[in-house]
Amino acid sequence: MSKSPDPAGGGRSVIVVGAGIVGTCCAVYLKRAGFAVTLIERDAPGEACSFGNAGSIGLTSFAPQSLPSLWRKIPAMMIDRKSALQVRPGQFPRSFPWFMRFLMAGRPRRVAKIIAARKALLNNAMGAFDPILAEAGAQGLIETHGKIFVYESERSYEGGAFDRQVRRDGGARIEELSGDEAREHEPALGPRVHRAVFLPDLGHCPNPLRLTQELVEHFVQGGGTLLKETVLTIEDATGAAPRVITETGRHEADLVVLAAGIWSRALAAQLGVKVPLESQRGYHMMLPESGVSLRYPVISVDRNALITPMELGIRVSGIAEHAGITAPPNYALADLVVEHARAVMPGLVADGGEPWSGHRPSTPDSLPVIGPAPGNGSVLLAYGHGHTGLTMGAITGRLISELAAGQTPGLDLTPYRADRF
Ligand SMILES: Cc1cc2nc3c(=O)[nH]c(=O)nc-3n(C[C@H](O)[C@H](O)[C@H](O)COP(=O)(O)OP(=O)(O)OC[C@H]3O[C@@H](n4cnc5c(N)ncnc54)[C@H](O)[C@@H]3O)c2cc1C
Repeated sequence: MSKSPDPAGGGRSVIVVGAGIVGTCCAVYLKRAGFAVTLIERDAPGEACSFGNAGSIGLTSFAPQSLPSLWRKIPAMMIDRKSALQVRPGQFPRSFPWFMRFLMAGRPRRVAKIIAARKALLNNAMGAFDPILAEAGAQGLIETHGKIFVYESERSYEGGAFDRQVRRDGGARIEELSGDEAREHEPALGPRVHRAVFLPDLGHCPNPLRLTQELVEHFVQGGGTLLKETVLTIEDATGAAPRVITETGRHEADLVVLAAGIWSRALAAQLGVKVPLESQRGYHMMLPESGVSLRYPVISVDRNALITPMELGIRVSGIAEHAGITAPPNYALADLVVEHARAVMPGLVADGGEPWSGHRPSTPDSLPVIGPAPGNGSVLLAYGHGHTGLTMGAITGRLISELAAGQTPGLDLTPYRADRF
């Protein structure tokens, strides 16, 4: 049983909706702060988007998805059947407003502000993970060995200059490697690798599902309550305690935290909160008998594909597919990720690969929503972490617990407000 180092919660009750990595970290931090916490999850914890990510702890992923140069490339990317950005036929009209906001977020002055806001979260991301991992006995679930970014041509290396500069400006150590030096670092890399950079301070999680599960187990052992129910509605009438209505009952609490990943959009809309949240569906293929042993996670910059050594094999992942949240997955895209990975690592064996897909909860400006639900005094929002939700999970939990306790949060939360759109 863990002891609360901070009684700020004073035993007040909080319901957290959603036990992905974000909701789980919120629950753990709130519990730690002395709140009586109930975590409501309709499935098993950690089995939605947080299950299948690439495991990168992207502490210097400061740059957003939308950059000034991107608008020229998007039309070609949308029609290229092998590109990392895919739009399902028929989806484009529905996604159009989101894409317009996405392009607007890529204006140079806006990008500078988004980078600053991402930096604030990412610079505190590991500091927020450390204590809860230590208390849960799960320190081994984030390893720091470094990461290699590979480029197949001088042109793609030059194309990555902005990203590298933003990382350097933020204090990242970056070692430049020739293709041969990259192959010395990571012998599984093939001849197509022309150049590479090694970032020695980056870490990864070798089993993202186990990370969420162990944090939930720690939460429950410490006296937190986990309920397996589907939340239908959150009611937050002014002057009364907020209520969470599930398919089997009603629960009251002093505060509610909405952290249901992509499904937060519909629940938030019921509260009058309209955040443009879109699923950018990602795919992975888990290769249990991959035929290669990797020292470091590898990112193919040309192909937006990640190759990560995991506890249960090698995971290759990538793709951002706009297809809505109800369409079935298109596992041909998991095969495409394997094809991209094999281009830079030809020895990878894909036999027996297990495909998976999950919905990245993506805002157009690559910033999550963290803070009060506008117009609702007792609901806090924690969703929309897009491509870096694993990395930003713990810092989100810490900020939510500070807000819940009525403390001034350790970071200025203005950039993450729900009403910025
Ligand atoms: C292919 C891929 C690779 C990625 N790689 C990385 C990476 O390397 N590094 C990184 O930092 N991020 C990465 N991400 C992003 C990261 O995985 C997500 O941002 C993160 O998992 C989102 O977590 P979440 O808790 O918000 O959502 P989820 O994990 O989706 O959790 C939401 C939970 O809410 C529950 N829920 C929903 N509705 C209800 C309801 N009505 N009632 C009760 N429960 C409900 C769901 O069942 C689910 O468990 C990747 C994503 C993908 C798809």
